[in-house]
Amino acid sequence: MSFSISDLLADADFEQPQIAIAQASQNEDQVALFDSDTDLSEDEMEELTHSNKNSAENQFYIQDKIDHPQLNIVKDSTMDSLIELLQKKEFKNIIVMTGAGVSTAVGIPDFRSPETGIYSNLGKFDLPHPEDMFDIEYFLYNPQPFYTVMKDLLPKKVKPSKTHYFIRLLADKGILLRHYTQNIDTLERVAGVPEELLVESHGSFHTAHCVGIKDKPGCRKEYSREFIREKVAAQEVPYCTECGGLVKPDIVFFGEELPQKFFDCYYEDFQKCDLLLVFGTSLKVQPFCNLIDFAKIDTPRCLINNKLAGVTGHPRKGFDFSGSFQKYRRDVFYKGNCDDGAVILAKHMGLEEELNELVNTSEQELSF
Ligand SMILES: [Zn+2]
Repeated sequence: MSFSISDLLADADFEQPQIAIAQASQNEDQVALFDSDTDLSEDEMEELTHSNKNSAENQFYIQDKIDHPQLNIVKDSTMDSLIELLQKKEFKNIIVMTGAGVSTAVGIPDFRSPETGIYSNLGKFDLPHPEDMFDIEYFLYNPQPFYTVMKDLLPKKVKPSKTHYFIRLLADKGILLRHYTQNIDTLERVAGVPEELLVESHGSFHTAHCVGIKDKPGCRKEYSREFIREKVAAQEVPYCTECGGLVKPDIVFFGEELPQKFFDCYYEDFQKCDLLLVFGTSLKVQPFCNLIDFAKIDTPRCLINNKLAGVTGHPRKGFDFSGSFQKYRRDVFYKGNCDDGAVILAKHMGLEEELNELVNTSEQELSF
């Protein structure tokens, strides 16, 4: 049985589904939609509830959860429900996924977002499309725009955020199964998340390699972050000392494969995961955004983000915060910034004091 968002919207009926939900809630307090004080915009509320549109499939799932309360892993989609679960159950294999939102808090720009204005000073390069500076083919043809932007963008000194330290703390406690990040700033490493628990899905600035020049493959010699930093500071493009190829930080450009570790780890990890925490991402970049679908169908998942993300209306894909189109009700949404969400989770996992101590005593800084 399959249906799409457009099918659902075609049948849109705003009254009936809400009535259905309200009746269901009266019968059994298992399918309450949202706390009334949840700070959601009208658009978000509509996005959350669109899947309840007069659909036989959704009515089936709603009824099934009334008949079988054990299908409600969480009571509703609020953080309180997850907190309740945290008090009942000890999670031992937590996966944390992060996006730009965990790093923008400490002043790192969202590299791929046109809204950051990072493309605005590229006029002199006459790029066909501004985002081409992150395209591997264009880089091999003309690396100057990338290195110019890199010099302007990289902050001199940055400390990891509370969210980064929360993830480190999960690792210290032995309950972090893996941390999948889309960020390339290496703040996870700076915060002390062990490398073996880290999948830098879009690569990182930690190392660099010779990638050759257009029509001539590089020798793949590895270079350090310091090598790149010195060249960039001197406004030079870094070239390989062995073969004269371009040296590129190991961040994944458009047109490049994700790191092998991503493919080696994700399937087994997500099958083993007993709690999925997703911080600060709009879940729009593939294949990263698809990772949430690999968790088992009854694994609780929590999105902490300043706006709703990842809702597809599909019974097996994306989040189902309404609890009406997937077999289990297991998704929770905290609307807010990542650090606030991390602090709430730390508090209810008994880690608040240790988190504060880690944040206050850690002197580690990232310097590019
Ligand atoms: Zn080389």
